[in-house]
Amino acid sequence: MTDSLDQFAAGKLADLDARHLRRTLIDTDRGPDGAARRGGRDLLSFCCNDYLNLSQHPDVKRAAIDATAKFGAGAGASRLVTGNHSLFGSLETRLARLKGTEDACVFGSGYLANLGIIPALVGEGDLILADALSHACLLAGGRLSGAEQVIFRHNDLDHAAEILTARRAGFRHCLIVTDGVFSMDGDLAPVAELARLARRHDAWLMTDDAHGIGVVGDGRGSSFLDGEKADVPLQMGTLSKAVGGYGGYLCASRAVVDLVRSRARTLVYSTGLPPGVVAAADKAVELIAAQPDLCARPLAKARRFTRALNLPDAQSPIVPLILGPADVALGASELLAAQGFLVTAIRPPTVPDGTARLRFTFCAEHGDADIDRLIHAVRQHVLPMRAV
Ligand SMILES: *Cc1c(COP(=O)(O)O)cnc(C)c1O
Repeated sequence: MTDSLDQFAAGKLADLDARHLRRTLIDTDRGPDGAARRGGRDLLSFCCNDYLNLSQHPDVKRAAIDATAKFGAGAGASRLVTGNHSLFGSLETRLARLKGTEDACVFGSGYLANLGIIPALVGEGDLILADALSHACLLAGGRLSGAEQVIFRHNDLDHAAEILTARRAGFRHCLIVTDGVFSMDGDLAPVAELARLARRHDAWLMTDDAHGIGVVGDGRGSSFLDGEKADVPLQMGTLSKAVGGYGGYLCASRAVVDLVRSRARTLVYSTGLPPGVVAAADKAVELIAAQPDLCARPLAKARRFTRALNLPDAQSPIVPLILGPADVALGASELLAAQGFLVTAIRPPTVPDGTARLRFTFCAEHGDADIDRLIHAVRQHVLPMRAV
């Protein structure tokens, strides 16, 4: 019975192997300050999204332990049944305050948030405009919704305006989706301009701020780049990166959040996050809100790196170094590992074909001397591998 199934899987894997696109899971045990033990080697990680090292913060860990001791290891049911333990309210209030919205709703993960929010807001007869480099789960949420999804060129406001002018009138509602900070390129969306464009065309702007919260806009994210809040009615994000834990969220008006709580299927039909996870995020967001200078550090570290190597100035803690072929990126990653650095290769389909890369991320606790050693290793071993 399973023969054709195993044959199918083996054939697919052989094809991925031939294209250097097979993925494997590697045990990686992380410790404080970017330490990571992998394959028997002690490495310094420059590829975690734990930008503020809050996953290792003693107060955050303590909050998780205390909540687990008090309420148990799991939520026991969907939030709409009995899974809505009393820690959710505090976290949602704190997120809404940080993001300057009336309310917030916490989901099981960022991926689940996007799969739930978008189909709750748009469907058949509606239009979605998505930036070409939007995260996979934004595009997946759009496809799931049944709305017509049109891609605009990356960060190209004129192209987005052109599509709106030509197509908007033919649809009931229109949603514009974009990463606030692009996950694989580290550049920023023109959030304030997109917000104005959206209002002009009666479209709803949704930003995925997975890599914005805690690290840009004084830690408040990509809606706060210019010091004042951009007019973004739907600020989505994750608790799994700078917040250091796990979970996703939407910050929006009370009416929108109430609708999402009733209709987002990934909230309704999925178990609530465990108490320890919610308590850890609550403590981490409290630390983020209180420490804008901590939130500024990852970007400052990234700029130290880009300036020393004459790369374009970092706009976020994410710095890509595009190498082209997947096997070249894998080789570069292995060379850096030999020097003691963990920087994983990012390959298609996570990034477009022919743009396999090293994706460096910088964290608050990276020491300047370690960054300088990394700069030296990249200059010696990686820059010469770049396609000309
Ligand atoms: C990581 C990421 C997500 C998914 O968040 P998880 O909480 O890890 O599921 C969504 N959007 C973007 C832009 C991301 O980088």
